Amino acid sequence: MLRSSWQTHLNDRLAQRREAKLWRERPILEQVVRQRDFASNDYLGLSDDPRLAEAQAQGARRFGAGAGASHLVSGHLSPHHELEERLAELMGRPRALLFSTGYMANLGTLQALGDSHTQIYQDRLNHASLLDGAALAGARSRRFHHRDLGDLHRLLERTPADSRRLVVSDGVFSMDGDIADITGLARTCQQHDAWLMIDDAHGIGVLGEHGDGCVGQCYGTDQVPILVATLGKALGSAGAVVAGDELLIETLIQFARPYIYTTAQPPGVASATLRALDILATEPERRTRLHDNIHHFRAGAAALGLPLMPSTTPIQPLLLGTSTKVMAWRDTLASHGFLVGAIREPTVPRGQARLRLTLSARHTLNDIDALLDCLGELVSHEWQGAQGATNS
Ligand code: PMP
Repeated sequence: MLRSSWQTHLNDRLAQRREAKLWRERPILEQVVRQRDFASNDYLGLSDDPRLAEAQAQGARRFGAGAGASHLVSGHLSPHHELEERLAELMGRPRALLFSTGYMANLGTLQALGDSHTQIYQDRLNHASLLDGAALAGARSRRFHHRDLGDLHRLLERTPADSRRLVVSDGVFSMDGDIADITGLARTCQQHDAWLMIDDAHGIGVLGEHGDGCVGQCYGTDQVPILVATLGKALGSAGAVVAGDELLIETLIQFARPYIYTTAQPPGVASATLRALDILATEPERRTRLHDNIHHFRAGAAALGLPLMPSTTPIQPLLLGTSTKVMAWRDTLASHGFLVGAIREPTVPRGQARLRLTLSARHTLNDIDALLDCLGELVSHEWQGAQGATNS
């Protein structure tokens, strides 16, 4: 009886998703042709760098393939600790705490800080893990209009008197590619005795003079007390850190359940990230190449009349509108070997479906031109289709 009611319920949910044409797929890739991969977040082209693979293998040989336990039991090994120190330095903070994924870092931070006397304000376009973290905390949550300081100010003014205020924003917005106004957010928070948390998952390694992200060494802990960075994007490995002062980090160690109750990341992964940090410091030309590539793509896409969004980061979405169109373009690009992200509701609002293209230092100008050629063909087919419809 129980089994059949579950089957009906789940089958109905899956059928609804299929009918809405929002079915999510999970392609199995034997091998990724990185030159045609415009979908990953491997912004500096480090994920398959042999130096990271070698560091990971050495770390595994020395410390084991797995950490064997959580950080507070016996899993906090010296590569983890060294990585925390190096990341704290890069991010201009006294301390940093390593989590196994960015999703867990956000869940853990919000759960440890928030409670029913916490009012959390989130940018409307924040990453899902930030929204989920506020729910896990049992905090009161409000969303302000995207990058709208006036709206945030208005909400902060109405905070109930018995609440602590926490403002949370992505640094670089993962589906739009634009950058938060950190100076404005920090000022607004100071006016209202609020703490500010920035998730710089897509900024670390990419932005800032040292690849220190959109906050990093430019803003102190008095302006941005809580700074998150993930390690599975520009840094090419996996995991995340939360950086801040002693008080924040000790609070997380004592209270963040997604930190306390999980096995530490494999030590070889930490060793690979340490190697990535060396490369970040010694090969600044990777960042230069990445920004040249962004510029080249945007100029070519604008010339084709493609629906670019105002982004100066490696995330370059094309706002196509309907999910049907997004899937058709995605499939045509795939048939030419190009991997791009197809982003539809519920990840973005209805009517704002988009191709999410990402650029990497690994791409050459020729790789980008090949992608632009294919996009150009899609535009001209569409134009011919529209002409045909008008003439008929
Ligand atoms: N924050 C943002 C803004 C992200 O885009 C992502 C990943 N898509 C995460 C957090 C989660 O990071 P991870 O993949 O390491 O769990």
